[in-house]
Amino acid sequence: MQFDVAVIGAGAAGMMCAAVAGQRGLRVALIDHSEKVGEKIRISGGGRCNFTNVDAAKEERFISEDPRFARHALRAYRPEAFIALVRKYGIDYHEKHRGQLFCDRSAEQIVQLLKDECALGKVQWFTGQGVEKIEKRGEQFELRWPHVALQARAIVIGTGGPSIPKIGATDWGQQLAATWGHRIVPLRPALVPLTFAPEDWPFSDLAGLSVEVDIRAGDPSRAQCVFREDLLFTHRGLSGPAVLQASTYWQEGESLHIDLSAGMPLQAKLLEAREKTRSQVDTVLAQWFPKRMVETWLKHSAVASIAQRKLAEQGNKQIQAITQAWSQWTIRPNGSEGYRKAEVTAGGVATDELDPRTMQSLRTPGMYFIGEVVDVTGWLGGYNFQWAWASGVAAGQAIGKAA
Ligand SMILES: Cc1cc2nc3c(=O)[nH]c(=O)nc-3n(C[C@H](O)[C@H](O)[C@H](O)COP(=O)(O)OP(=O)(O)OC[C@H]3O[C@@H](n4cnc5c(N)ncnc54)[C@H](O)[C@@H]3O)c2cc1C
Repeated sequence: MQFDVAVIGAGAAGMMCAAVAGQRGLRVALIDHSEKVGEKIRISGGGRCNFTNVDAAKEERFISEDPRFARHALRAYRPEAFIALVRKYGIDYHEKHRGQLFCDRSAEQIVQLLKDECALGKVQWFTGQGVEKIEKRGEQFELRWPHVALQARAIVIGTGGPSIPKIGATDWGQQLAATWGHRIVPLRPALVPLTFAPEDWPFSDLAGLSVEVDIRAGDPSRAQCVFREDLLFTHRGLSGPAVLQASTYWQEGESLHIDLSAGMPLQAKLLEAREKTRSQVDTVLAQWFPKRMVETWLKHSAVASIAQRKLAEQGNKQIQAITQAWSQWTIRPNGSEGYRKAEVTAGGVATDELDPRTMQSLRTPGMYFIGEVVDVTGWLGGYNFQWAWASGVAAGQAIGKAA
C-alpha cells in the first residue's frame, strides 16, 4: 500500500492534519492503536470540549523551552479559523470564562467534525493496532504491524503524551523521536492536582471547598505565572483551575504562593472593621471568606493564637500579621496526582530540532511531529486543543511541498 503520508495517532492533531493533507489531494493513511479514536476530545471540558480560546494566538500562554516556537503555527491558524469550522458544522457553542469556548451539547460533535473532515479528504483509516516497525528506505518510510505493511513518503507523529493512560495514552511518540535521534525535554504531568505529605496537610476536612485566589508557582521572576482562579481543596492536596494552571510551572521542590484574598485590600478592610465591630478575628474574616475555611485554615496558621480574640483589641502589628498569613500562604507540595489525573504532558520533542512553520524534523526529512508530543504545553482553557489544530494544519499544509 502506497501513501503520500501516514499519520500516526488519530487524536486532535492527527485527525486535523490528516484532513488537511487529504483535502489537498494527498493519499493519507491515519493510524491509531485504539479502535475508539479522539478519546481525549470526548472526555475534554467535562464532556463539552473547550475546543479553543479566543486568546489562543498569544504565544505567552504556552510553555516550552523556546516559547517563540509555537508562534508561527498559532498565527497561521488562529482560533477564528477553528471557530469557522465549528460554525460550518452547525455546532452551537458558548464562551464560559476568559475566552474559553465550549460546545453547548457534546464533545462528540467535535470528534464527528474531524471524522467528517477526514472523509472529505478520503483519509484511509487503520485502527486497533499500533505500528511495530518504522524504517526509512531512500525517500520512503515503511511502516509495519502484524498483517499490514504500508509505504509513505512522509510520516506524522501525533500520538500525544502519556497523561490518562487508561484511555490508551502513551509516550510512544517521544520514544520513537528519541530513537530517531531527537532530544526529548523531560516529560512531566501538567494541568494536574498537587499533593502534600499527610503531616503537611491538616486541611482534608476542607475537601470540596472552593475559593478564588491569586496563585503563583516557583520562581518569583516568572511573573507570567500568576493566575487568579478558583482553588479547590481535596483530601490529599489542592486542585481546581488555580492549581492546575500553577502545576504547569511548578517544579519538584518548589513552593506555591497563594493569596487567599485574591487581591482584596485585606489590611485596609481589617483596619476599618476594627473601628466598627466587637467581633472576633475569625468572625470578621468569615464575612468575606467561607466560614469553614476561615476556621480550619486559621487553626493551622501563624496567627492561630489570635484567631478567636476580638479584632478591636488587635494592634497594627497583629493586623499586619493576619494580612500577611492570609495573603502570602506559602506551601510546598510533595508531588502531583501524576499522569493518572494530568490533563496534559509537559516536555516532549525538543523544538530546536523542528521547523516551526511545518513541524518537520530537521534531522529526518519527511518526518513531522504535531500536537502534545512536541514540547509545547498550553494553559488550561482551550489552548492545548488550539495547539493541536494549529500544529496539525501546519504539517498538513506543508507535507509534499518542496522545503
Ligand atoms: C481529561 C482531559 C480534559 C481535557 N480538556 C481539554 C479542554 O477542554 N481543552 C483543551 O484545549 N485541552 C484539553 N485537554 C488536553 C487535550 O485533550 C490534549 O492536549 C489534546 O488532545 C492533544 O492532542 P494530540 O492529538 O496531540 O493527542 P491526543 O488527542 O491525545 O491523541 C493521540 C492519539 O494517539 C493515539 N496513540 C497513542 N499512542 C499510540 C501508538 N503507540 N500507536 C498509535 N496510536 C497511538 C491515541 O490513541 C490517541 O488517539 C484535556 C485533556 C484531558 C486528559
